[in-house]
Amino acid sequence: AFAVSVAVAARYSGYIRSDEIKRQMVQMERDRKIRQEFFSNASHELKTPITSVRGYAELLSQDFVKDEATRKDFLARILKETEHMTSLIDDILMISRLESKDAEVTLSKVNLKSVLDEVLESLTPQAASCKVEISGSCGNVILQASLQQMRELLSNLISNGIKYNHPGGHVWTKIWQEPEAVYIEVKDDGVGIDPEDQKRVFERFFRVDKGRSRKMGGTGLGLSIVKHITAYYGGSVRLTSEPGAGSTFFVEIPMSGINKM
Ligand code: ADP
Repeated sequence: AFAVSVAVAARYSGYIRSDEIKRQMVQMERDRKIRQEFFSNASHELKTPITSVRGYAELLSQDFVKDEATRKDFLARILKETEHMTSLIDDILMISRLESKDAEVTLSKVNLKSVLDEVLESLTPQAASCKVEISGSCGNVILQASLQQMRELLSNLISNGIKYNHPGGHVWTKIWQEPEAVYIEVKDDGVGIDPEDQKRVFERFFRVDKGRSRKMGGTGLGLSIVKHITAYYGGSVRLTSEPGAGSTFFVEIPMSGINKM
């Protein structure tokens, strides 16, 4: 009703043409649908670990579990589910901050080589447990950006290269700058993505293999966050992939997007 009254008021005030009003209303309706779908997906995603935690806690509290090993196993499962809920909530908050136009973003001079080194170091345990080798190279790239966003972007792409890979696999990251843009390439020789799924992987909560994603601690929001962050700087992210051979994610951030900050 609010949208209609704004539209009517605008029409009669003569400031906005009717096709412009129509376009805005279609956009508002689209945004409303996307928000509604997001909340419904997010609630559903949170319900699954909550149900599981509740089930284990009930069994433990009713004294059904007699042996110590099962008790420990149930507690470990509860811990894993709560960790998953924390990741989900962190990712949901990240998306909501990225979408809110008036959220404060702290910009500073960010040295991408230091960020890459830090991210590679923090992902080393995960890579080791999956037996995947990670490496990276970065020229002297310094840009005015949000440190947290740059960390998040690299960390999501590199950890995906680890998660969707085989033992003995590799993830290579290359960052470089040209006069017109900064480029980030994250390439892996992992499981790859079918052509029909390649567009969809950037959608919120879309996962090719839900079981695998969940087992690896995925939330289905990583690539959507990457897309949002790149768009924030006026950039883009592209994907080329061959099932069974691997994937390459290619981010381009134009200097115009960085300099306007
Ligand atoms: P998730 O938390 O599930 O990893 P993402 O949004 O990061 O969510 O990725 C969405 C889906 O895209 C993943 O579940 C996976 O199926 C697929 N995917 C992402 N990165 C890769 C990759 N490097 N190789 C193969 N599949 C990938």
